[in-house]
Amino acid sequence: MIVMKFGGSSVADAERIVAAGRIVQGRMSRRPVVIVSALAGVTDLLTDAVGAARRGERDSLERLLAELERKHRWALTGAVEEAGRRHRLSLEIDRLFEDLRQRLRSIRVLREATPRAADAVLAAGEDLSARIVVAALRDLGVPARWIDPREVLLTDRRFGEAEPQADAVRERAHEKLLPLVEAGEVPLLGGFVGASAEGDTTTLGRGGSDTSAAVLGSALEAEEIEIWTDVDGLMSADPRLVPAARTLPRVSFAEAAELAFYGARVLHPDSIAPAVQRRIPVRVLNSLRPEGEGSLIVEDGAGG
Ligand code: ASP
Ligand code: MG
Repeated sequence: MIVMKFGGSSVADAERIVAAGRIVQGRMSRRPVVIVSALAGVTDLLTDAVGAARRGERDSLERLLAELERKHRWALTGAVEEAGRRHRLSLEIDRLFEDLRQRLRSIRVLREATPRAADAVLAAGEDLSARIVVAALRDLGVPARWIDPREVLLTDRRFGEAEPQADAVRERAHEKLLPLVEAGEVPLLGGFVGASAEGDTTTLGRGGSDTSAAVLGSALEAEEIEIWTDVDGLMSADPRLVPAARTLPRVSFAEAAELAFYGARVLHPDSIAPAVQRRIPVRVLNSLRPEGEGSLIVEDGAGG
């Protein structure tokens, strides 16, 4: 089986969501588990909403919520055609927004956002995107099933930068995800989000969906982890500065860390360390050009 992770730019809007769905559809024989980020820009908007709520800025909070709703309604309308499915999804989105509003309202009233309360708000981005992408996949005939990451990605209680607990995650992943994969279904989880042993929502830090993919890929001993982004892979230099920059087909983990100067835009090497240590290859691919080979990051490198 493989783990496929789609970053925010690869699920930015309806068109990109459907394109991501087609990529998953084309990989069914490899038995994918899918991880998605929030729609592009959403985690920033949610962070701003927490700030506005904490400062008691009611108007800017309303503006941010309206912008968030607009983005998600637009995505769901364009990505899901079947009327019944679209209706059910739309009710689900209503419920998630009602919950989000309530959480932000209590931050506004208290004028205080504890790290725990902030995480519960930030998690809404991946909760929303995961529901929309599942419905879009089912529209394409892919038997996707939403799994709450809180049931699988168990972490410590360092809200805002929670650390996944590898043994607990392995146990949960085997219990909750493997049976679905074996039954031919496609489990889909929002990245970035987990839960403490007490059941409180945690987040893994910005860019944390890569960590979710690496941790789940390791837990399931995946054949490969695919990180779908909007560039061709890891480049030899910043193509904006060096026109001759090229995609590196095969990169060692150490080289990937060195390239973080430019590669940081693509992924933080630290986030994939759990996979690399277990010798699970990580491939960075471009969802705008899915036929490309991307860059393969391996433990021992180019190897000639
Ligand atoms: N949505 C989160 C962020 O923007 C996590 C991720 O996309 O990896 O940081
Ligand atoms: Mg992101």
